[in-house]
Amino acid sequence: MTAGSGPPSGDGLVWRTATELARLLASGELSSVELTGALIERSDAVDPGINAYLHRTDELALEAAGAADARRSRGEAASPFDGVPVAYKDIFVTRGVPTTCGSKILEGWVPPYDATVVERCHGAGLPMLGKTNLDQFAMGSSTENSGFFPSRNPWDTGRVPGGSSGGSAAAVAAGAVPWAWGTDTGGSVRQPGGLCGLVGAKPTYGRISRYGMIAFASSLDQASPLTRSVEDAAALMAIAAGHDPCDSTSIPSPAENYLDGIDGGIEGLRFGIIKEFTGEGSQPGVRARVDDAYTRLEKLGGTLQEVSMPSFQHGIPAYYLIAPAEASSNLARFDGVRYGSRVAGDTNIVTMNSMTRDEGFGAEVKRRIMIGTYALSAGFYDAYYGKAQRVRTLIIQDLRRAYESVDLIVCPTSPTTAFKLGERTDDPLAMYLSDVYTVPFNLSGNPAVSVPCGLSSDDGLPVGLQIVAKTLDEKTMFRAAYAFEKDLGFAGSPEGRPRL
Ligand code: GLN
Repeated sequence: MTAGSGPPSGDGLVWRTATELARLLASGELSSVELTGALIERSDAVDPGINAYLHRTDELALEAAGAADARRSRGEAASPFDGVPVAYKDIFVTRGVPTTCGSKILEGWVPPYDATVVERCHGAGLPMLGKTNLDQFAMGSSTENSGFFPSRNPWDTGRVPGGSSGGSAAAVAAGAVPWAWGTDTGGSVRQPGGLCGLVGAKPTYGRISRYGMIAFASSLDQASPLTRSVEDAAALMAIAAGHDPCDSTSIPSPAENYLDGIDGGIEGLRFGIIKEFTGEGSQPGVRARVDDAYTRLEKLGGTLQEVSMPSFQHGIPAYYLIAPAEASSNLARFDGVRYGSRVAGDTNIVTMNSMTRDEGFGAEVKRRIMIGTYALSAGFYDAYYGKAQRVRTLIIQDLRRAYESVDLIVCPTSPTTAFKLGERTDDPLAMYLSDVYTVPFNLSGNPAVSVPCGLSSDDGLPVGLQIVAKTLDEKTMFRAAYAFEKDLGFAGSPEGRPRL
């Protein structure tokens, strides 16, 4: 590429959205090898400061980029995004590439197959730049529970990028990759999206196959994109969505194109504001930005009305019983025999098993296994797990009632902006409360997106607005988010990116 003509090189290039990059690749102004090389260079420069990656796959990416360029030159692009690189949270299994789920217990494990999400992205021609850091087994809201190292927020490297998909969020926010996959069980894509000034979009439960995504809480887990624009989130989601016979909870409906009608505007849409989310415990600067966002939705032709969700006050306790209960069962498979590391011991299999689990799992994982096992044990099942499941039903019913009079629900993504590293590590409850606005929509299964709504006046850090749609109505969700994003003009502007 020559300076002064054609697409921006180096610095300019790394801030482009995947959609813009796809256009440059289609017109021949840019090759995937050039793009991938620029991103590798950018990662070399910024990753030591943010620790976004657990494992980089530069050579594989360049090889895939070369293949993408060859396809394009033959006029046989695998998809409109052929050649646009992507990164995966290290919870997605990748054939021949180490996968740890952020835990020492899986160190050294090389999966023999690809997750469906990975397979579909490979099929669309997206070169894989690497595997990103996460809270061990996706349990956490800051990446500080990673078994290896915490990631850092590119907006302020003394702060967390959010979690558990914090490595993916940090990489996209720092310009190291245009988009990345995370997973959202209780907010793990929307919250880091909000804290890093990105779009984080969780589909309806069942939209995207969970096959090959290491299970945390199977009734809640969903693969979800982290991107720099709403359009990119809709596009990446569409690449992976659609029925998969390998996941029994996958919705048996054909994939939709979420970009269809995305520019239809907000005029006439009815937005519900949750009465019970009073903003108590929220940072004033966050509340101010979210209030501005509500005003903007009205200005764009939407109407606002209050909706009541009495069950939502029980969202956090219900989630923190159901998720650990499922985790305690899912994590039983890590026994030192089938996957990853083993502490041999010198006695018998029971000792080997418990020594392996003791060394391999981090403190938060052990806490969840204990809570979950307790909640499921005979004698306590009805009082804890059973009750939490009844709360889950109430949450679904409250939402159903609300959606009789509104099209979308809006609320903050997170009560605060990115917090300092170490600030909440000694207080699990404070950490759990980061999820107060996100977990209800995992318990209900509704699609929800966090879209940047500017910077907080108290600390200059990004704030996320959450937009929640009816089950299976991702299209209206993206349409509203797109109109909001365009009108705000934050994404893609110099103000919308960190000075890293
Ligand atoms: N922070 C929540 C938890 O720790 C959500 C995690 C997630 O969505 N994976 O469980």
